[in-house]
Amino acid sequence: MDKYDVLKQYFGYDNFRPGQENIIDGIISGCDTLGVMPTGAGKSLCFQVPALTLSGIAIVISPLISLMTDQVNALVQSGVRAAYINSSLTAAQTAAVLNNAAKGIYKLIYVAPERLTAESFVRFAQNADISMVVVDEAHCISRWGQDFRPSYLAIPEFVGKLRKRPILAAFTATATQDVRNDIQRVLGLNKPNVLVTGFDRKNLYFGVLTPDNKMKELVRLVREYTVEDGRSGIVYCSTRKNVERVCAELTERGCSATRYHAGLSENEHRENQDDFTYDRKKVMVATNAFGMGIDKSNVSYVIHFNMPKDIESYYQEAGRAGRDGSPSDCIMLYSGQDVITNRFLIRRSREESELDERTADEVYNKDMQRLKFMTYYCTTAKCLRKYILEYFGEKSSSDCGNCSYCCSGTEETDITVEAQKILSCIYRCGQRYGKTVVSGVLNGSKREQIISRGLDKLSTYGIMGDRTEKSIRWLIDRLTVMGYINVTDDEYATLSLAPAAIPVLKGNKHITAHISAGERTEKKGSGDRDYSSFGGRKEKSASVGTGKRELYLSEEDKELLSQLKIVRSKIAAANNVPAYVIFNDASLYEMCCEKPVTKEDFRRISGVGDVKLERFGEKFISAISRYVAENGDSADTISEPITYDTEGGAGGLVTRKSMIEISEEGLPLTSFVENMLVCTHTRSTLKSADVRKAIVEWLTKEGYLTLKERSDGKSETAATPKAGQVGINYVMRKGRGGESYMGIIYSPKAQRFIVANLEKIMAASNSI
Ligand code: ADP
Ligand code: MG
Repeated sequence: MDKYDVLKQYFGYDNFRPGQENIIDGIISGCDTLGVMPTGAGKSLCFQVPALTLSGIAIVISPLISLMTDQVNALVQSGVRAAYINSSLTAAQTAAVLNNAAKGIYKLIYVAPERLTAESFVRFAQNADISMVVVDEAHCISRWGQDFRPSYLAIPEFVGKLRKRPILAAFTATATQDVRNDIQRVLGLNKPNVLVTGFDRKNLYFGVLTPDNKMKELVRLVREYTVEDGRSGIVYCSTRKNVERVCAELTERGCSATRYHAGLSENEHRENQDDFTYDRKKVMVATNAFGMGIDKSNVSYVIHFNMPKDIESYYQEAGRAGRDGSPSDCIMLYSGQDVITNRFLIRRSREESELDERTADEVYNKDMQRLKFMTYYCTTAKCLRKYILEYFGEKSSSDCGNCSYCCSGTEETDITVEAQKILSCIYRCGQRYGKTVVSGVLNGSKREQIISRGLDKLSTYGIMGDRTEKSIRWLIDRLTVMGYINVTDDEYATLSLAPAAIPVLKGNKHITAHISAGERTEKKGSGDRDYSSFGGRKEKSASVGTGKRELYLSEEDKELLSQLKIVRSKIAAANNVPAYVIFNDASLYEMCCEKPVTKEDFRRISGVGDVKLERFGEKFISAISRYVAENGDSADTISEPITYDTEGGAGGLVTRKSMIEISEEGLPLTSFVENMLVCTHTRSTLKSADVRKAIVEWLTKEGYLTLKERSDGKSETAATPKAGQVGINYVMRKGRGGESYMGIIYSPKAQRFIVANLEKIMAASNSI
């Protein structure tokens, strides 16, 4: 059987993902392999497919029982003969598995590294035909990795005892060169095929929020995601205490949550993890102790209640969202306190370090440096995905269009004057204070802390009295990231001027930054608006939400989806496996769109292999048939065929325009455009700003919009009298703080008008 047959027959997929094929070809041709791919990229398939095409047995070394259980469950349900041996089995069960294995019944055997030194296992392996030895989560072998497992060091010796040297293949999501070198060296990989794929995970939305009250914001998010939408998610906290607090609060607010941290008993760990895996509880609140064992593919959001200590940890934890490829959200709730906590933890581990002085200092400096980059992520004024990818050494040329920065409708603004005020205040304060004091002075605060030090006598006192302190702090963060301000690493986080600040102060250099509309005009007394988040996430959640999968389905299809979920739960319960092992959510969504009623059509659904078709196909097909008979096949009434993910960009926007949902309420252009991009799957390939521009240009050319001069000399877009005919309304709107302003609202009629003219609009645009 060749690799494509294996892919379709067992796993039900038509295509390999990036990198998979290269690795698989390498292994099949006998090469040692090191595969470095981000979490959720599909590393398992890279060794499972060769294991099924090569003759003999593949031994897979995996660090955690839960990981083995998950993968073996999934393989068995797909009709692959696989088993695991670990401490959860009794001696009799272990003997039975080894006995079967010796008869050649299994193609894959998963073991914990400790097993490699057990005599019975070594004896079995020496007498068997071992095709390859796979080391999953291979960073466990490196003391530079975050999860060093000394028992992994026993692997080379075990391999040495085998009659014939098998192919060695190692996989990890850890990208650093140190770790990669360690893996190759310690395992003794022989001229390996090393493949490092791109680290981008396109289906993940990245957002940073800086709420005044994190708990309130968290509850709001979880209610939206889980209570209203039924999505499953993880909330990461920095401490056990926070886990307890957050879990209690969520439970009290009616969210189905459970918890995980190192302070719980082993029993409780297993129970809570199972509750989450089997969807009995929808939200897992956890410290970073809840980690590597999670292969649950339908986690659809990860919220960080606290900022982790480095981007490596963040990307790994956030990456647990959206493994099945569905659009998913990664939200960071940031506050300055997170930096202080992390500094404290790093200092403490320096003090408690058992390394020699020099190495301990080196580690300390590295940790502080990494923390700085993590903090910059939370305060940066650029595309968040680009920031992460650049951190991992990947250059990307364009902004992603799927993060809170890209979705916020920001504009490049000259902030030279603000910068001069801030920089000169830092200087006047003697470069001796942190952000809180400096922003207090600029704002003219009467806090004791400021008055008692006589800082109210400075010439810069109160010169930014028209802004809130929070927005000043936010500007200070911007200037820090841009390199105009230095911050000390100690707990005082003292601000001082960087050399780059001098030309700015002298008026020889202008500074611009991407700032949202709200941030540009923020004045005191504008209520509790959260500008520091760029307003991105908020603005969108008011209209379409982020990565909401339900959006891809019509109302009727959502009904079908819930019926199919019931079918899936029943089958899962009968087989004693989690629901996503039967079919993942992405497969169910596809079934709802395609509505296959024959076996042939059903097999075309991604994730349906031969064995699953035979075992479960009928149950799903009959549910779909029943549904179609009762409701008519809405797929027939759609004028254009639905094509997924094939064509992006403006072409995709136009051909899939029938999928655009018209909102019953009037929308500002930003929300409407975002809605269009989500509905047509073009959000990752088209920039909303470009589409907005194209629409505005066309409407202006056609005489619906016009440029109007404002009293302050700047110009803004306004609607012409003719605009009313197509439902474009120029109305007085109220901001959250109660202030009034004029804005353009696109009624349902106007939305339809624009959709109807999309071809013309796109064709006329120069920017798309
Ligand atoms: P990793 O180990 O890299 O974190 P996994 O091997 O657990 O990722 O795979 C993540 C998800 O991707 C699984 O649900 C798997 O079924 C799915 N997957 C892997 N390869 C493909 C593919 N070629 N097409 C579709 N889905 C895939
Ligand atoms: Mg894996």
